[in-house]
Parts: sequence; C-alpha cells; structure tokens
Amino acid sequence: MKYKSLLFDLDDTLWATFDNNKASLHRLYNEEGWGSYYATFEDYFAVYFPHQEQLWDDYRKGYISKEPLLLDRLRYPLRGRVSWSDQQVKLLNQRFMQYVQQQTGLIPYALEVLAELHRDYTICIVSNGFEETQYGKINGSGLAPYIDKVILVDHVGVPKPATEFFDYALKAVGCSRQEALLIGDSWPSDIIGAFNSGIDSIWYNLWQVPMPDYDQQSHSVLEIRDLRELLPLLTQSTASSL
Ligand SMILES: [Mg+2]
Repeated sequence: MKYKSLLFDLDDTLWATFDNNKASLHRLYNEEGWGSYYATFEDYFAVYFPHQEQLWDDYRKGYISKEPLLLDRLRYPLRGRVSWSDQQVKLLNQRFMQYVQQQTGLIPYALEVLAELHRDYTICIVSNGFEETQYGKINGSGLAPYIDKVILVDHVGVPKPATEFFDYALKAVGCSRQEALLIGDSWPSDIIGAFNSGIDSIWYNLWQVPMPDYDQQSHSVLEIRDLRELLPLLTQSTASSL
C-alpha cells in the first residue's frame, strides 16, 4: 500500500461541525433571549456565520489570535445592541463550547469508514480546533477507538495551512510525506496545506462547490463528495460492504 498514515481533518470532515455548532448556538440564543433583537434565529445566524468564517480566515492567516476569534464571533451579531465585558463574553463562549461538546452528530458514514480504514492505516486527526473542544468531540461521538493521534493547533502553535503544522504531524505519526495522505473539507487550510507540504490529498467537498484551479503537474488531489468513496480508493473492500 502506498500510504501508511491518513491525516484526517475533524471539523466537517468527520464531525458535523456546521450542524452541531448551529444547534448549540440556537440553544444559547433561546436561553439568552437574543430573539428580542432578531425576528428569527435564522436571521441571527445569517449575520453570525459569515462573520465567524471571516474570523477563522483571519486566524488561519495569522492576522488575529485565538481570544479575539472566540470573543468577537458572539459579540458581532449583537453589536450596538448589547454591551458585554470580555469576562461576560468569555462565560457565554464557555457555555457555547459546553453545548457544542454535548453534540454527537457525525458526517454520514464517518464511523463506518474510519473503522474500516483503521485496520490498515495509522489515523491521525489534524485540526485547527482547540484542545478544550476537540477531545470532547472525538470522545463523545464514538470516533476515539479509531484514532491513533490527535494533532491540534494548540500543540503546534500555528494553524493549517502552515507547513510547520504538517511537519509536526508527520513527525508525530512517524512517516514520510510520501507515506501520508490528507483528507479534509477545507480547500484553503487542508488542501493548500497539503500542497505546500508535499503531501497527497483528498478533498471532501462537503459543500459541493467548484474545485479551485491548481497546478496539476506538481500536486495530487482527488475530490470526493461521500466518505464511502474512500473505501474503494484505499482498501480492498468496496463501498457495498457497508
Ligand atoms: Mg474542516
């Protein structure tokens, strides 16, 4: 077999982050009575979500650190309406994170596919998420038995797509870049990171968006839209065994 280790992104590659986070935020929204500022939760979420995506993008690029990311995402949708101290937002964020960790939704077939691949490969999580949430997600959702290593941004100090992140992960699993394959949903952090580090990758195109242009002479990437597509690619089994 060509590869020895599979480097899996966690959020929205295995764990259903978008749905789980949205449900957790909805609970906080109801408990805090933020409905007095918005007609519906969907209206609130339409402001929250694009802004938090922008914050994560800024974080990946090193423009902001972890704390402004965590605080500003809750402050922004209620800016000009509610004035919180940093301490108040931190407590709200802690509750949000607690609710997130109670969620167990996975991407379809994540558990079955990981169980199958774990027979033949070392499985390593490579995630830009933080320690205080990621272990809870892995343990609570049943993914833990199929995961050999967890590498988070808190361990490395810099997020994907930095090459340092992937160098750290390769060292942790003890394989060369040619023996590793990355699977992730984020083009800018997972796939670009793999390109820059000389690691082959599979893009899990969860959101079904067009594949960006890339240099096909120097980089190898495959696109899948269902995790079961990994099995015929990476094992002797076929998807029909599920
Ligand atoms: Mg992801």
